Amino acid sequence: MTLVVLLGAPGAGKGTQAAVLRDRLGIPHVATGDLFRAAIRDATPVGLEAKSYMDAGRLVPDDVTIRVLEERLGRPDAAAGAILDGFPRTAVQAGALDAFLAQRGSRVDAALLIDVPAEDLVKRLSGRWICQAAGHPYHAAMNPPRVAGMCDVDGSPLVQRDDDRPETIRARLASQLADLDAVVEHYRSTGALRTVDGLRPIADVSAGLLGALDAIATSTPRPG
Ligand SMILES: [Zn+2]
Repeated sequence: MTLVVLLGAPGAGKGTQAAVLRDRLGIPHVATGDLFRAAIRDATPVGLEAKSYMDAGRLVPDDVTIRVLEERLGRPDAAAGAILDGFPRTAVQAGALDAFLAQRGSRVDAALLIDVPAEDLVKRLSGRWICQAAGHPYHAAMNPPRVAGMCDVDGSPLVQRDDDRPETIRARLASQLADLDAVVEHYRSTGALRTVDGLRPIADVSAGLLGALDAIATSTPRPG
């Protein structure tokens, strides 16, 4: 079983890379949001327990999340492993996951960090503009309008929502990056961390991630 934790800030391209890893490794991409939605839809006992916290507007406790994860990892499609995305989100959760896996004679084989500097994340995340007339979406870097500041379709001016402004994004990122840094340090200390430069083209990032996994698979004996 190969258990991979995929780490990266919002805007680092984690979703794109998770899909590549899933297809190349043949193991499922287990994103925390999907995990809860599926457990609740299937009305599993631990799914219902998680739902009771969510319905009350509370955070699902780590031990409940880990039991939802345990249930997911017990499914046949995860027999060869899984790519975890969105969990662990904090250093405390990373420690809880290690403890849970150690009980099963297992561990996180690799924590793969897609590293993108904070200001590049701000640029990526704050590039969204919409037209005033109909909300047609644009992105300053990925999908710019033909004429700056004007909608290609209807010629109306492009505006930026408060949520998409650099200062809003910078503030929101700060706390997310603090959590991410703590998780990164956790896996640095366990030796599972591998870092890939997230500013490289998408295909190079994929190659870097797959190369890091190959190196781990060939060099590290499993415990027990
Ligand atoms: Zn428009």
